[in-house]
Amino acid sequence: MKILIIEDEHSVASFIKKGLEEQSFVVDVAYDGQAGKQLAFQNQYDIILLDVVLPHINGLQLCAQIRQASNVPILMLTALGTTGDIVAGLDTGADDYLTKPFKFQELLARIRAVVRRKSDAGVETNYKLADLEIDFKTKQVKRDGKTIKLTAREFYLLQFFIRNKGIVMSRAEIAENIWDASFDSGTNIVDVYVNYLRNKIDKNFSPKLIHTVYGMGYIFKEDYSD
Ligand code: CA
Repeated sequence: MKILIIEDEHSVASFIKKGLEEQSFVVDVAYDGQAGKQLAFQNQYDIILLDVVLPHINGLQLCAQIRQASNVPILMLTALGTTGDIVAGLDTGADDYLTKPFKFQELLARIRAVVRRKSDAGVETNYKLADLEIDFKTKQVKRDGKTIKLTAREFYLLQFFIRNKGIVMSRAEIAENIWDASFDSGTNIVDVYVNYLRNKIDKNFSPKLIHTVYGMGYIFKEDYSD
């Protein structure tokens, strides 16, 4: 799971980041609204943790802006804890809120609940392209009716391709979304994982769904030509 924290208090941000990384989540942090907005629009996150009082763009404005462009789960972090603030947050499209200070376990439970609720209700519950079928709730993948076992990383890679169907994705974009923003582009880890995924979902099937775009990256689409 990939998480964006937008929080200007460095101590709070690093406390959350450290805890989430211990849970094996990939975490990006922005310390103001503008930087947070950039990351939120650039990358795909499974959830955004958004502080209310932020420099440049405040959390409520930013929540509304993100919501216009995406359905990503948003959990507001509010230090104020006032009813008005919470209502305003939920009105701008936040999925839930947590009042600071909070215990890390509380945050973790809230994150899991929001993500689960959203994916249960979301359009991505089931997906079908050609004879590829995915159940996002059970994370079950099938091609031509046969169950295919994917590792967690391969599954996220496939999910990323599906979200970006028909768009050429560069190795750097894939790396940033599946690993993290500080990824070293000198390695061929993206090619390695794309090949793992291809061997499982494409190799023995037709049409091919993952295609190499030479010099640019990869594209996910139904294509009978190769
Ligand atoms: Ca703040």
